Amino acid sequence: MPSPSLIETGELQVILDDIADRVAGMSDRGKVAQYIPELAGVDLNQFGIAVAPIDGAPVSAGNADTLFSIQSISKVFSLTEALQHVGATLWQRVGATLWQRVGREPSGDPFNSIVQLEHERGIPRNPFINPGAIVVADVLLEDRSSDEAVNDVLNLCRTLAEDASMQVDKAVADSEMRTGSRNRALAHFMKAEGNLKAPVEDVLSLYFRQCSIAMSCRQLAVAGRYLAAAGQNPADGSTVLSAQRARRVTALMMMCGSYDASGEFAFRVGLPAKSGVGGGILCIVPGIAAVTAWSPGLDAKGNSHLASIAFQELVRATRWSVFGPSV
Ligand code: GLN
Repeated sequence: MPSPSLIETGELQVILDDIADRVAGMSDRGKVAQYIPELAGVDLNQFGIAVAPIDGAPVSAGNADTLFSIQSISKVFSLTEALQHVGATLWQRVGATLWQRVGREPSGDPFNSIVQLEHERGIPRNPFINPGAIVVADVLLEDRSSDEAVNDVLNLCRTLAEDASMQVDKAVADSEMRTGSRNRALAHFMKAEGNLKAPVEDVLSLYFRQCSIAMSCRQLAVAGRYLAAAGQNPADGSTVLSAQRARRVTALMMMCGSYDASGEFAFRVGLPAKSGVGGGILCIVPGIAAVTAWSPGLDAKGNSHLASIAFQELVRATRWSVFGPSV
C-alpha cells in the first residue's frame, strides 16, 4: 500500500470544492454554542475548509477566510507557548513540572466537567479540557502578567500563521468573562487543591482572552503546520518545538482533542485533532499538512457537526488517516 502523500493542488481543490458543495446542502447543521452569549448569534449557514501543506501554498473552499473564535483550539498554542518558553530552570523554581500538574489521559467527560477534578485532587486529566488549559495558563503566568501572556500566545499564532492581523475578539472575551461561572468553579477548586498559583481572575483573564482569538480556516491551517513538520515552522525552518514535543502535542490531540468524543473522532477520521466551541477543528496530517474546517453548529459533545463530516469526507478522498486508507 503506498504511503499517503500530498495530493496535487488541482486535485485537492476539486476535493475541497466537492466537500464544501455537499456540506452546503445539508439541513442538519448542529447548534451554535449557547452558553457564550456572543457566540450564540453566529450565522449557522457558514462552512470553510483550508489545507496548508508543509511544502506549498494553502488550498481552500467555502468561507475559508472568515474569522471565527478559535476557542479551545487555542489550547494547542498555549501549551506550545508553555513548552517553548518555560524552561527547566523555571520548573525547578516552581517545584513541579507541567506534567505533574496536568495529566495526559483522555477524560471521557465533557470539556467543562467538574466531577473528575474532585476525585483526582485538582489534577486535570489533560491540557485540552478546560481545567487542564487553565493550569497551562497559570504556568504561563509564572514569569509574566496576563496581558503579556495573551500577547505572547497571540504573537505565536501570528508568527506561525505568517499574518500579523489577528486579534483577540474583545466582545467574545467579555462575554466569557461575564458568564464563565463554570470555568471559575473549576479554577477555584484547583486553587483550593494547590494546583493554581496566580490569582484565579488573572488566570481566567488569560484563558478567556486566548479562547477569544479570532482566526480564519486558512490562518489556522497555516499556523498548525509545525505540528505536521516535526516541530519546525515550514515558513523559515525555525524550531517551534523539538520533534519529541511536537509528537507529544500531536498524540494528545489524537487522544484528548475532541473531549469525550475523541475516540469517536479517531474512529471516524483517524487524524490528531483539536476542536473548539466556535465550530473550528484543526487536524494534523503528519508529514503532509495541517487542515482546518469550520462551521459554527455543534453536536451534543461540543464539536462542529459539519466540520467533523467534512474531515470524514476528506480522509476518504485523500487516504490521509494515520490508521491507513479506508477501502
Ligand atoms: N472558552 C470555552 C470555555 O471555556 C472553550 C471551550 C471549548 O472550546 N470547548 O468553555
